[in-house]
Amino acid sequence: MPLLNIPDELLELRSSLHQFIEREVRPIEDAHRQEILDTGTFETLKEESLKLRKRSAELGFYALHMPEEVGGGGLSYLGQVLLHEEAARDGLILPQIESVLPVISGPTAIYIDCTEAQREKYLFPLMSADKITCFALTEPGAGSDATRIQTKATKTTQGTWVIEGRKHFITGGQEAHFALVFAVTDPEKRAQGGITAFFVDADTRGYSVTRIQRTMSPYQNPVELTFEGVEVPESNILGKEGFGFYSAVRGINGARLQIAARALGLAQYLLDRSTEYATERVAFGQPIGKNQYVQGMLVDSYAELAQARLLVYSLATEIDEGADGRRQAALSKYVATEMVGRVADRAIQVHGGNGFMTELGLEPWYRDVRAMRLYEGTSEILRTNIAKTLGL
Ligand SMILES: Cc1cc2nc3c(=O)[nH]c(=O)nc-3n(C[C@H](O)[C@H](O)[C@H](O)COP(=O)(O)OP(=O)(O)OC[C@H]3O[C@@H](n4cnc5c(N)ncnc54)[C@H](O)[C@@H]3O)c2cc1C
Repeated sequence: MPLLNIPDELLELRSSLHQFIEREVRPIEDAHRQEILDTGTFETLKEESLKLRKRSAELGFYALHMPEEVGGGGLSYLGQVLLHEEAARDGLILPQIESVLPVISGPTAIYIDCTEAQREKYLFPLMSADKITCFALTEPGAGSDATRIQTKATKTTQGTWVIEGRKHFITGGQEAHFALVFAVTDPEKRAQGGITAFFVDADTRGYSVTRIQRTMSPYQNPVELTFEGVEVPESNILGKEGFGFYSAVRGINGARLQIAARALGLAQYLLDRSTEYATERVAFGQPIGKNQYVQGMLVDSYAELAQARLLVYSLATEIDEGADGRRQAALSKYVATEMVGRVADRAIQVHGGNGFMTELGLEPWYRDVRAMRLYEGTSEILRTNIAKTLGL
């Protein structure tokens, strides 16, 4: 499909990311593939994943999306979309667990608010992939409505803060060297200046990973984090006291667009596999792809993917050209993640019983993409956000 007016330098960048994946990522995954299929887990890949992040940072991909003012590459949103789509389009697990490009466990725009000292201690090691973080907002009693969080931070007479509470569904929490923890600092205000973001080192007394949460996807194991009398200095506040949501929102457009782009890449992978299967698998004396019903499934996926891709590219461009991005990022994620769910469902159907069997390695993606409609804003919350931008 023609690629609109995408600048040559972005196409070259995408091609060099592709070469990196083929040269250094795929061989590692190939070596572990059978074990993953047999065990349904990817424990041994996790170590490799950390080494690959470092390699991606050395090659300049890992922090390319960060603004130049903090030493990043200042990559445009369209550029980010192209790279994240490319990383996902071969259906490899390693890019999905952020081994090539970060979405949430590495550097994000949230950290622009860091002080000089915080940049040295947290941001720069994230950008060089020497450290991993996690974003700890959600709690058992507060997900979409994050203003309901119960985790509290209380100021001591010495000027430090003591954090008490519990977070769940925290991606990357098992490996993180530090967490960005959101806590109520002024219960009277909450949404309007009552919630603060704190850097908390994972080796601080009272910080613990209390549960690894098994999910529908073999590739996602978020954790529960518990904070019992965790004491941090005032200098661990990100941005200003009471403005935690302000920092969180800084990263939201990028994360939503990156997830939308991954949905495009995975949908392309699932469609490619389905089309190939439809030309090879014979039933009633001819390839199944000769049947109009099967063609219909493939063409519907092709059409929906093409529409979503054009939409995401053009919305990313709108942000690059100055739009504030709220509607663009929400709409991109909503459309692309709903689309990949339908494409994954059709991919199983085209593969028949084989699609349901674990040996083909297709069904884990059907389960994995389901989460995309939940994190970084559920589809319902995204529609609510879009409605607001329409004046509703
Ligand atoms: C795999 C995975 C990884 C995650 N990683 C992280 C992470 O790293 N850090 C983190 O902080 N969180 C993380 N989350 C949490 C995620 O952000 C929340 O699950 C999400 O915000 C929804 O919150 P909830 O699960 O509490 O659902 P709820 O908010 O309880 O929502 C339940 C249902 O009600 C709907 N709903 C709620 N309010 C409204 C409304 N106003 N209008 C219409 N519908 C509504 C929702 O759309 C949903 O369908 C992760 C979740 C998953 C599944």
